[in-house]
Amino acid sequence: MSTGDWPVLPVLPDAATDAVVTSGLLRELAYAFGGPFHFLLPDAFTANLRAMRQTLDAADVDGFLYYAKKANKAAVFVERAAAHGAGVDVASAAELREALGHGVRGEHLVVTGPAKDPALLRLAVTHGALIAVDALGELDAVITTALAGPVRPARVLLRVLPPVQPHSRFGLTEDELALALERCVEARQALRMEGFSFHLSGYALQPRADLAARLTELCLKARVAGLQADRLSIGGGLPVSYTDADSWHAFLATQCPAHYHAEKTFASGDFYPYHSPVSGARALAALLETRPDGADRTLARTLTEAGVTLLLEPGRALLDRAGATVFTVQGVKDRDGYQLLTVDGTSLSLSEQWFNSEYAPDPRLIPRRPDAPAGVFPASVGAATCLESDLLTWRKIAFPHRPRAGDLLLYPNTAGYQMDSNESPFHDLPLPPKVVVDRTDRPRPRWRLDRHFI
Ligand SMILES: *Cc1c(COP(=O)(O)O)cnc(C)c1O
Repeated sequence: MSTGDWPVLPVLPDAATDAVVTSGLLRELAYAFGGPFHFLLPDAFTANLRAMRQTLDAADVDGFLYYAKKANKAAVFVERAAAHGAGVDVASAAELREALGHGVRGEHLVVTGPAKDPALLRLAVTHGALIAVDALGELDAVITTALAGPVRPARVLLRVLPPVQPHSRFGLTEDELALALERCVEARQALRMEGFSFHLSGYALQPRADLAARLTELCLKARVAGLQADRLSIGGGLPVSYTDADSWHAFLATQCPAHYHAEKTFASGDFYPYHSPVSGARALAALLETRPDGADRTLARTLTEAGVTLLLEPGRALLDRAGATVFTVQGVKDRDGYQLLTVDGTSLSLSEQWFNSEYAPDPRLIPRRPDAPAGVFPASVGAATCLESDLLTWRKIAFPHRPRAGDLLLYPNTAGYQMDSNESPFHDLPLPPKVVVDRTDRPRPRWRLDRHFI
């Protein structure tokens, strides 16, 4: 069916989500909770984890995966990481406790984030977590903590300020790095310098390969000085594809203010790249196959020949297809040539809306009545709040049925950062609960609540 002039951005097919939709479970849950909710598909997380590990194995690269916990607050993903022997990337004492409490071993944690507070450092050192040191002062604090406590040496990585992102507020400059290495040598009884780390914004592979190769060389130099320096964390940033290439490029080429409520303007660069030529485990494979700038071998060979273990901290890529968000349409208004829907939640459950951007994959309308007439029915989606700017979707989505109160609206593939980064009980609305659906291969999917509601 043609959608006329309306751009579309369909998500890639996902059998597990389809199975949940066709089971009728979502309507029951909407009734039970009386408001929006998220459902989580942890088997997708496990599958993504397996695929990344297989990629490392296939490239003969010694590697270890840490799930970047900030991408979703649910317990089930941490539980899956623990069950499969993966690590977790934490950045606060609360996240560290959560990870430990859900079964992740202390030595399988990496602690990132700037200016870690003393409580966090004490916990990290006591549990043998790897600490990505972000500043010289922090290195001193780690040394002091280790000397004062019962467990040593503390395990550290030195986080590097990426030369390609000199305005990043994270990481040590080159001068600081030289000083830090000296301090690591001096303080060998208190800490073990295991290598370096970085995290780049953006999703390009080449700069990651370049910096990884440079830091591999630095590992070799550090070893000469007597340091362990045998691992390298390249952070997160493995891209996720939400839609196919053709839809994405057509969307970018055609989208214009007339397609949005209130003629809102989004530049192409305002959007997350909802399609990437390679994503997830395949992006990791491509990265390992990349030749770093000026090198005559791939990154994989560079690492293995230097005996360097590759550490990764994916958040979004591990959560690809691992959940979705469901609202109920509460009201429908007619506007000039389109409709304005109001759903029973807020854009706080769709974090992209809070970054001068829009979560662009098409939401899916699940009509309350199966006889809903078909056609093309453009509509934007507003929240049940008194904020003029609180829209879940500014774009006029070309729905295939006329939306009506009581219909469900499913935002697909929201587990990575969309669900709960920004949620708050605004208007005293309760936070949307999270439902774990861990068997989608039966006619009635099995579900339970995730451990908490935050
Ligand atoms: C946010 C973050 C990650 C995860 O990034 P993704 O893009 O979700 O893969 C990993 N490491 C660090 C240090 C981060 O800040």
